[in-house]
Amino acid sequence: MSNTAFSSLPLRAEELANIQSLDYEVMTPIQAQSLPAILEGKDLLAQAKTGSGKTAAFAIGLLHKLDPRNYQTQALVLCPTRELADQVSHEIRRLARAYPNIKVTTLCGGKPIAQQRSSLEHDPHIVVGTPGRLLQHLEQGSLKLDGLQTLVLDEADRMLDMGFYDDIMQIIQRAPRQRQTLLFSATYPDEIKFISDTIQHEPVDVRVESTHHNKKIEQIFYEIEKGDRTRVLIMLLEHFNPESTVVFCNRKQQCQELADELWQKGFHALALHGDLDQRDRDEVLIQFANKSSSILIATDVAARGIDIKELPLVVNFELSPDPEVYIHRIGRTGRAGSSGLAVSLFMASEAAKVNAIEKFQDSPARIAPITSLKPRENFRLSPPMVTLSINGGRKDKVRAGDILGALTANTNIPGKQIGKINIADNVSYVAVERQVAKQALKILSEGKIKGRKFRARKLR
Ligand code: AMP
Repeated sequence: MSNTAFSSLPLRAEELANIQSLDYEVMTPIQAQSLPAILEGKDLLAQAKTGSGKTAAFAIGLLHKLDPRNYQTQALVLCPTRELADQVSHEIRRLARAYPNIKVTTLCGGKPIAQQRSSLEHDPHIVVGTPGRLLQHLEQGSLKLDGLQTLVLDEADRMLDMGFYDDIMQIIQRAPRQRQTLLFSATYPDEIKFISDTIQHEPVDVRVESTHHNKKIEQIFYEIEKGDRTRVLIMLLEHFNPESTVVFCNRKQQCQELADELWQKGFHALALHGDLDQRDRDEVLIQFANKSSSILIATDVAARGIDIKELPLVVNFELSPDPEVYIHRIGRTGRAGSSGLAVSLFMASEAAKVNAIEKFQDSPARIAPITSLKPRENFRLSPPMVTLSINGGRKDKVRAGDILGALTANTNIPGKQIGKINIADNVSYVAVERQVAKQALKILSEGKIKGRKFRARKLR
């Protein structure tokens, strides 16, 4: 058994104090097993999924080694998606509070490259990004890796799924040979072993018992008739009455159709799939995370790397033929200590998919009758918050405190009725409790933020 106290690690007092201030009481299994080796500077091949605490494992390691006075890029983290890259940067920034002036930059596709180039004029200590865009910067000379000490591949299997193999290899060719390489992957297909053999040096191999197995996640399967999926989904929502639900579909068209149908029936449901433009994707995720939308309907690819805290319910609207996809999907609920529920709909003709899942988990599926679902009268699943957007962001020097100030100073809206605030480059979003949404919108539209007038609107 490894020691799970952070204080057992050779960390500095201020690093430990910062970890404590984040309410990380003990190490998660992946942290306990990998951090001693990471802090010794060893290469690591780790099996870890979203929700295992893997980000903190590598972030604590790369920060510990960093020299803040050396203005070179010393750590590079490769991620499959922008959403994951944003989350990783966020977690690194939180852990970096123990250090003076650490610059972390996120470089992903879908954003203007020129702007990113200018943010690289002073080399950031840490760069997080997606392989395609990182390679572009390396080719153009805007990103330099001469001072690189730590290279992290996060969700390496997903990066391969998304066709980033060549880009990853080209990036690695431009990195110094003398470095620490940390590779995280949820699954271990042959390509992962091959990449590890090619780019790592005697890695420590850590495989943590998956946190997603039936321990904290209750799994229930419902057999349905053809054409009955939406009706049963609504019965599930009525029965379990969850504050937030992610519904997985296999195809993006199905996501949009289902979202439209639920919307018509009075549910606040939003679809997340590859056909949305970046702004729409961001808005969907923000609305779901800040509790102004109750239901997120997503494809697997679109849902990659989304980390939503305390997600009570995941629904497989349709099962995937691949049991690993099932495990990945249900792992979204019940993370970091809280319990969760995963329910799946299947038709008799799809029994093979359920069998594959049973075999994969080595435990029988719990199949419950639809009649066990109890309808509620006058049921409404209305999200507690509303999102307001403001047409000014980071570039306009708008900060979260300014928005909070505008909404609460000299008004009768208490701060506790204001939820999450997200600031993007040119736009900001603030979640407010539904009861005060109208008033908040009026304040933002008619008043000023930082002495300037902005336009505000309510997201649907
Ligand atoms: P990850 O697997 O990196 O996506 O992390 C999942 C969540 O667990 C994140 O929200 C982290 O902030 C949180 N977390 C990471 N380490 C710990 C810890 N030791 N104790 C409690 N929460 C943690």
